[in-house]
This record gives sequence, C-alpha cells and structure tokens, in this order.
Amino acid sequence: MNSSRLLRTFLELVKINSESFHEKEIHRFLMQRLQKLGCRVSTDHAGRSYSTDAPGNVFGFLNGTVKSKPILLCSHMDTVSPGNNVKPIVKKDRITSDGTTILGADDKAGLAIILEVLQTLQEEKIPHPPVEVLFTLTEENGMNGAKNADYKKLKSREGLILDNEEGNEVLIQGPAVNTIEVWIKGLAAHAGACPEKGISALEIAAYAISRMKLGRIDKETVANMAIIQGGKATNIVTDEIYLKGEARSLNNAKLAKQTAHMKACFEEAVKRYTKKIDGKVRKPSFKFVPFQRYPAVNVSKQHPLVRQLLAAAKKEKITMRACASGGGCDANVLSGFGFTLPNVGVGCRNCHTQQEYLLLKEFFNTCNVVLDVVRNYKK
Ligand SMILES: [Zn+2]
Repeated sequence: MNSSRLLRTFLELVKINSESFHEKEIHRFLMQRLQKLGCRVSTDHAGRSYSTDAPGNVFGFLNGTVKSKPILLCSHMDTVSPGNNVKPIVKKDRITSDGTTILGADDKAGLAIILEVLQTLQEEKIPHPPVEVLFTLTEENGMNGAKNADYKKLKSREGLILDNEEGNEVLIQGPAVNTIEVWIKGLAAHAGACPEKGISALEIAAYAISRMKLGRIDKETVANMAIIQGGKATNIVTDEIYLKGEARSLNNAKLAKQTAHMKACFEEAVKRYTKKIDGKVRKPSFKFVPFQRYPAVNVSKQHPLVRQLLAAAKKEKITMRACASGGGCDANVLSGFGFTLPNVGVGCRNCHTQQEYLLLKEFFNTCNVVLDVVRNYKK
C-alpha cells in the first residue's frame, strides 16, 4: 500500500464536485480510473430511474489470481452539500476543508481506499480472489443508486462497504425503518350547539395512541409517533387528524409485527368511536400508510468476513469493535437484495458538516485492513 498515493487520490477525488444528483463528473473519473487499473468496467441505468445527471452506478471487475468467488467492495460517489469547490487542507495528522464546505471524506475516503487496494494487489503481485467494485450514486439522498442498481452484473454476494466514520468500528447491524402516516376522519359538528352529532378525530387519535406500544419495544425495536396536525377551531368537533411516526427494528419480522400492532390500535379506536347519530350508524374512518424506507442490516459477529476483519485489524494493532448503527445507508438497501456487507469506518469525523475531517492514521490503517481482508478472502 502506498500511503502518499492513497492521499493523492483522495485529494483528487474531493476536488471533484459530486453533490447528490450531480455525479456526472465523478462517474466519468471513476470509470476511467478503474479501467486504468485493469478492471473491466460497466455502468447500469440507475440514473434513468430518478433525476440525476449521471448515467448509473459504476461497476468494476478485477480478475482473480486465485480460485474463489469474488468479493465485493462498495462505496458511494455523492456527497451532501455544501460540497462544491472543496479546498482540502492537509495538516499533520488530518485533512480538513477550508471551513466553507464539507470535506467529502464521506465517502471519498472509501473510494480512494478501494482504488488503492486494487492497485496494490496488482503492483505487488499479491495473490487475490476476483474483486467486484460497486460505486453507487445518490446515497446521501434516498439511496437511489443502490435502490435502482442492476445487481445481475455482480456475482459476489458479500464483501465490505466503506461508509462509516471511525476506523476502529465496523457496523454489522442497522435497523429497518418504516415511516407511518395516518389520516383519521371523524365527523364535524358545532361543539357548542350539538357536540353529540360529531365524532372527534382527535379523540380517536388519542385513544389509539394511548393503547399503542411506543418508545423502546424490545432490544431490537423502537417506535415513535411524532407529528400531529389537525383541528380548525375550538367550536368545531375535530373532523380530521393527520399523524406521522416511525418504527425501527434490527429484525424485519419484528418491524412488521410492530407496524401491524400500530394499525390495529387505530382499528380498535375507530370501532370504539362508532356511534348512532340521528338514528344512523356513523363510523369514523382512517387510512394507515406504512412506507419502508429501507430494510435491516444484520450480520452475525461470527460471520467469516467479520472475523477476518477483526483479525486483520488486530494485525494493524487496532482493536476493532463490531457495532450497531441507528441509521441507514447503502448497506441496508443491499442487504435487502441479499448482500452481506459489514460497514467499515474510513477514519473521518463530523460528517455532513463543514467541520468534517479525515484522520490520516485511521485512513491508512483502514486501507491496510481492507487489503488484508481481500487478499485472504477465499470462498
Ligand atoms: Zn456516506
């Protein structure tokens, strides 16, 4: 591994503007760079599925020199904003931006490491399995690249994703998330003159939520009702309420169960507030719409890749922790497509802020760790 070259590549990458939806230039750069590194390259049509200026995700394929299934290395091409005209400043132990933009180490540190690993394998003639590379579009804004990728291009179903901050941390779990929207329809009536002719959507919401298991459900599952909107005036029985919340779980089945429970609470409430008005049965109604933002990541601590990773870190004198993440990234989306991808930290801090920086020691260490995992991968 050549750390000054790795650094050079990183500095080159952060100077390329690539905010989400504007990834054309970095797409071109990475296609060319992979080709120069002796990879077969390819792109898909993910960019057509939503509004971005790049054609698609970038795929690279490096032939193996030992017989094995391929290993996958994955990072994303886009950055958050303000991410244009980044002027990186190299300090003794770190790289920062000039404070007017982000640095873009998330995730260009990952891209640089993958490129360096490919180059080192060949340059030092290290025996290695076939390596497949996936650089995704638009991770930072909906993970659109990963959601629309053409996975038929890949033979691998496991590997490493490089999109985490701390170099001594690998994320092996991350929750699946459902956003939940609810519309409740009661019946308006004059609250002063004839409240008995109304059905309060607000009371229905209150009743449903009072029966709902929320907050910490179990070790793997949480739920939250967060937003409530509705009501027109104090003299009107509230006829419409909108609610929004979410549920998260490291376990897809538990998430489905919690979501169903939340829906059942509204069903029960609507039944309870059904009543006869002027001799006619009036039943309030509700619409419950869950939307799965992304599925869970759940890689066993005993998975050979995780063990290999921890062993490789040990060689670098790093005590690597296997952790759970509270958020989501491409690893979640890919896990929904059947991939196993522990998420390795690249050495950056304060991502998504103008105070973002990259710690050189961790950055170089992660490159060595990834190189070690790749060269020793055999399946
Ligand atoms: Zn990222």
